[in-house]
Amino acid sequence: MLMLTREDVRLGCQAADWRGALAQAAQSLVEAGRVSPEYGEGLLAREAQSSTYLGKGIAIPHGTPDSRRFVRATGVRVLQFPQGVSWHDGSRVNLLVTIAAQSDEHLDILRQLTHVLEREGVAESLAGATSPEEIIAALSRLPVTARLDADTLCLGLPAKDRLELALSAAARLRHVGCVDAGFVAAIAGQQPVPLGQGLWLVFGTTGVFTPALALATPDKRLHDEGGDVTGVFCLAAQGDAHRPLLDRLDGLIARGDGTKLHGLPAEQVLSRLAGESARAETARVRLLNAHGLHARPAGVLVQTARQQSLPVRVRLLEGSTEAVSVTSLSKVLGLGARRGQTLVFSAEGEGAAKAVSALVEAVRGGLGEPVTPLDEAHEVSAPRPLPVVPKAPPAPPPADEPLTAVPAAPGLAIAPAYVVRPLEFHYPERAHDAARERSRLENALLGARQQLGALVQRTVGGEVAQILAIHLEMVEDPALRDSAAEAIGEGASAEAGWWRAIETAARAQESLADRLLAERAADLRDVGRRVLGLLCGVEMPTPPEHPYILVAEDVGPSDVARLDTAKVRGIVTVRGGATSHSAILARALGIASVAGAGERVMALTSGVELIVDGELGRLVAAPSTARRQRTERRIAEQETLRQAAHGRRHEEARTQDGHRVEVAANLGSTAHAADAVERGAEGVGLLRTEFVFMAHPQEPDLATQIAEYSKAFDALGGRPLVARTLDVGGDKPLAYWPMPQEDNPFLGVRGIRLTLTRPEVLETQLRALLTAAGTRPVRIMFPMVKDIEEFRAGKALFDRVQAQVKAADVQLGVMIEVPSCALLAPSLAKEADFFSIGTNDLTQYTLAIDRGHPQLSAQSDALHPSVLHLIRLTVEAAHAEGRWVGVCGELGSDPQAIPVLVGLGVDELSVSSRRVPLVKARIRELTLPRARELAALALKQPTAAAVREALETA
Ligand code: PEP
Ligand code: MG
Repeated sequence: MLMLTREDVRLGCQAADWRGALAQAAQSLVEAGRVSPEYGEGLLAREAQSSTYLGKGIAIPHGTPDSRRFVRATGVRVLQFPQGVSWHDGSRVNLLVTIAAQSDEHLDILRQLTHVLEREGVAESLAGATSPEEIIAALSRLPVTARLDADTLCLGLPAKDRLELALSAAARLRHVGCVDAGFVAAIAGQQPVPLGQGLWLVFGTTGVFTPALALATPDKRLHDEGGDVTGVFCLAAQGDAHRPLLDRLDGLIARGDGTKLHGLPAEQVLSRLAGESARAETARVRLLNAHGLHARPAGVLVQTARQQSLPVRVRLLEGSTEAVSVTSLSKVLGLGARRGQTLVFSAEGEGAAKAVSALVEAVRGGLGEPVTPLDEAHEVSAPRPLPVVPKAPPAPPPADEPLTAVPAAPGLAIAPAYVVRPLEFHYPERAHDAARERSRLENALLGARQQLGALVQRTVGGEVAQILAIHLEMVEDPALRDSAAEAIGEGASAEAGWWRAIETAARAQESLADRLLAERAADLRDVGRRVLGLLCGVEMPTPPEHPYILVAEDVGPSDVARLDTAKVRGIVTVRGGATSHSAILARALGIASVAGAGERVMALTSGVELIVDGELGRLVAAPSTARRQRTERRIAEQETLRQAAHGRRHEEARTQDGHRVEVAANLGSTAHAADAVERGAEGVGLLRTEFVFMAHPQEPDLATQIAEYSKAFDALGGRPLVARTLDVGGDKPLAYWPMPQEDNPFLGVRGIRLTLTRPEVLETQLRALLTAAGTRPVRIMFPMVKDIEEFRAGKALFDRVQAQVKAADVQLGVMIEVPSCALLAPSLAKEADFFSIGTNDLTQYTLAIDRGHPQLSAQSDALHPSVLHLIRLTVEAAHAEGRWVGVCGELGSDPQAIPVLVGLGVDELSVSSRRVPLVKARIRELTLPRARELAALALKQPTAAAVREALETA
């Protein structure tokens, strides 16, 4: 992928002739530290061999293979000559894209540029561009490539009808990462439409990441109530990008080849879909050129094709099935063929065999370059990128326009973007020396263990260290190693064997279809990539030396741990929601972060200035000077406020008219209680005890739990601790408590519903909490309660245990997370001692938006008036019975929400430790009447956006 920054582009260059232009290009590479000065000779030598003019005013100077030794680091420099320069082959050049490549990375650049060439008016726009961003945007836009390859075929299935085949094809598209589960669900409800010749089609547009076509065929001739079934195609449609796939289907049917698909192996199916009829003459040849089919050998191939008596087409066996004309240089370059890949030539008609074999011979001969035979065992046979499906980034966010995303971690930051794109690994699939491969894998695993060990050491406590420790366990997992070793024993290379083991394990987890497990799958792949990087010698990207805002598809836990917090000012992710791992980690590290910003942020260029507002969930690219100055002023004000708040963190939080609101901390680990106290927390308002259970390989026994909880009570020095009983199930799995798959895990057996199925577990936990508390204040609450019945069932257990333990200062409460519970709060308030409102879940159930939903979670705003009404009902009911109410969901630390919550009468806010001083400071700014006024105003609004708007202007 061509990654350009502003620094890579030079506008308004002038040169008397092409040599002068080339000298400037060489000099700019030298200045960038990419090459030593001798590389300039290599550029000239290359032009002497043949012109590097590509078309549409673009030339791509690059050194000869011999001059690669002068390349220090792969890079590209783009020089714009608005007046144009006469090139030595007579062309007029406006843009020099000068490449310094150590190996064959330039192939990707070439491939990308060939797509640029296909666009109308590109020459004029590049020559006339007035900002580096314009040039970067024009050169960086990748076309969407639709997928149809061996991996999207599932042939010979023992299916009984069309519907089963349609589902298999859809599932295959999901398996290769082109679509999500929603797509498969949509297909499940469709009747395939007949295409003729026994072929059927289902298609969908929702949940499509990459346009693609899958084909499922039955193992035997099938005839169902709709007629013959030779196969069912499943099309994942997106914009216009899937059109070429439909064209190929059309072609297949028009040639009458549909019926002939039955029983064909994958290769021949692809050949038919590529437009090669059974009559076509085809021949294959492996490409031997060290640096792939780059401009010069491609030029020779094109010349050879033009000498033939009839048109010849070529496609890549390993890639998509699209066959292109061999006489088109840009199309041939667009294949991006690398050494070791197989070219398939085809032609039809008189003399076809001769034409095809002439091209095969030309390729075998090296196309003008010296070539060496392949070493099958160690060379790439099918270089495959990591199975992350590359997507074409849409247009970048417009300059100075706020973009809405999910607020993931509070804070305001302004800095240049650092856009991290997925890494690619190239490796041989097969190897013949299994012992050697195993030892390579062992070395890489050792290296990964050392890296992770060092990261764990460097990371002081907290969620980051916990997640890294999980990664360390994964690297040490004998099951993964055994599975990789088995694949190696069957002839796989260390890389292929390892990745297969990782993918199998990750997919097994994903298939359980719940969010937290899916995140575990991401962790597995994260670990997998680390080991792959060591095997392939691919280094993780190096972030800039200056402060920056990280922009990435998603940020894996170990990525966050690698971040230099002194430099990272903010994090922007394409995916994820406020409760994704990366968001939780960003909050733990105090880095401003927005999530779910959408694909368009990947089209940003590194170096473009960004404003990230992690509080409002806003992002502004290339802000105007006025906006930047405003933001800088707000950052300075916030820093002053932060310092003032920190100074008063141990004081109580009272409004100006003396109304007290307690501020406590939410904890995942009992080890962090001391830190919470140090930050001014008046107690723990939510101990998520499931983390205690997750931190142990099996259910912690009574003694272990007592020891764990005692740590927190000891650190709190008499301050109260609110512990939520085990809240697993649904989105929170527990490895040693297997649960059946549920279609809607959030609406399934989780929280109190689950623990009541094994009362002995709940009883042990209650006993441990009460015992650890002793004379110290403990408040225990049940999660996910829907009505008084569930509360009573839990309370019966509690009463039995408390009658034996007799802890001195105990209250038993209910988490208000399900709307039914808020509506029925009057009945609950009669029997529960307190309520703690879990606004995260309360919001998802009230708005019917999965809290981690990649597209919808941005709308899942807990300041929605419906949620506020439920909070009002809860507080009124509680106060009527003399009970207290806390808010322990994320809303409690939202600066806009705090006045509203105080105005609604909430007695306690429990927030992440880091936010305690600021929340206290915010309360101190208020008066109770003003807070009530704002609450009343918020309750009157029709939408969350209206609430925010009203609060902003009130
Ligand atoms: C909530 O739902 O608001 C809550 C605090 O619980 P959790 O986020 O752990 O589900
Ligand atoms: Mg909850």
